[in-house]
Amino acid sequence: MCFSVADWFRTEARTSRRTFLRCGLMAGVAAASFEYGRSHALAGVAEGAEPPPPVALTGARIYPGPDAPPIPRGVVLTSGKAIVAVGSPEQVSIPSGARTLDCTGLVVTAGFTNCHVHFTEAKWRAADSATATHLAGALSAMLTRYGFVRVVDTGSSLSNTRDLGHRVDGANVLGPQIITAGPNFVPPAGTPFYLQPARLPELTDPGTAETLIEQALDAGVDVVKLFTGSRARQDSIATAIMPVDVVRAATARAHQRGKLVLAHPWNAAGARAALDGGVDILAHTFPSELTGPWDRSLPVRMGEAGMALIPTLKLWPYEAQRLALAPAIAERARVNAAAQVKAFTDAGGQLLFGTDVGYMTDYDPTDEYVLLGRAGLSFRQILAALTTEPASRFGRSAHSGRVAAGMDAELVVLDGDPDRDIAALARVRYVLQQGRIIYSRTLSG
Ligand SMILES: [Zn+2]
Repeated sequence: MCFSVADWFRTEARTSRRTFLRCGLMAGVAAASFEYGRSHALAGVAEGAEPPPPVALTGARIYPGPDAPPIPRGVVLTSGKAIVAVGSPEQVSIPSGARTLDCTGLVVTAGFTNCHVHFTEAKWRAADSATATHLAGALSAMLTRYGFVRVVDTGSSLSNTRDLGHRVDGANVLGPQIITAGPNFVPPAGTPFYLQPARLPELTDPGTAETLIEQALDAGVDVVKLFTGSRARQDSIATAIMPVDVVRAATARAHQRGKLVLAHPWNAAGARAALDGGVDILAHTFPSELTGPWDRSLPVRMGEAGMALIPTLKLWPYEAQRLALAPAIAERARVNAAAQVKAFTDAGGQLLFGTDVGYMTDYDPTDEYVLLGRAGLSFRQILAALTTEPASRFGRSAHSGRVAAGMDAELVVLDGDPDRDIAALARVRYVLQQGRIIYSRTLSG
């Protein structure tokens, strides 16, 4: 079948609710009931494009960055979309008219990035016309309430997710900024079984790869996502692996246009195809040993090649439970994934935080933080994966990822010190993005 990405984009723009769910990364996902929680994002509607007034966060322990000493009881002052001062109360004078948030006993860090999410559940449908309150509530439940000011959507309906992103960018909806991959690309007959009968665009040879990636870039994807390894049949462990020359052609075309490439590996062979094909970011660890022992050389080689890795450690026990796998298999996956993360970071590899929420309907990142800690990562390594590393990888280091004067006013206020209890990273009191308070737990909804 002749299949172009342009056709796919046009088709998916008209999808029914049923097809929309299939075109997500998980077939059969129930439309999760919409949870506002007790503290959804303010009223859900942004105040418009007016510059936000100055905000002063006072009395907090500030972690300016993963490699900087904390400020014990400091002040962060924002004005408009930027941080204008950070320091002790003696160093920072608060202008009259500033909104002051008393953060005594709380902790301030830079805003977080989640590098692996999906906007494929039914609640994201019709993002161009859904109410701002609905969308902001949904964004809060999945992301904003956990401190995420920026996310990388690694697979969804491009047109719908771009509509959602535009409404956030236009200050119509409170939520995180969105970087999106749109549709994913697979090897021949490589659409994952859980998405079928939908069929993702297939990269059959280098020439086709160049053509289809070009079409996707023309359609406006921010990043490219490949399944370099894919399990196409539920009744078989056979894996469809994307040939390295095809991966190379796809990544070269994306790089020519200044875009990064992510890959879903499924197993070690898929990770090796991504590494050898020049992929920038591996979207998961690859703990499965159904097709044989995982290749112990890969984490170091990936680190040396300058690849980034998104661990998604919580995903493996989540999947084990969903698929009712034997406890021994689940434990083996946990051990393998932790070993891959540790070997990769020890080799100097760049870790990017990501959880695969939107595929996982359990949005709470607490377990991911705990598992990263158990894998041997320090609070400061985890903070880097949430802030400075994604800023660096996505070319935003000059104005994002740190709490410092001149940086964008993207801040998270935590209820607890994650240097003592890593789970405190998920206990969020306030979130500021572009100088606006986009989440406040004290304002009950
Ligand atoms: Zn995913």
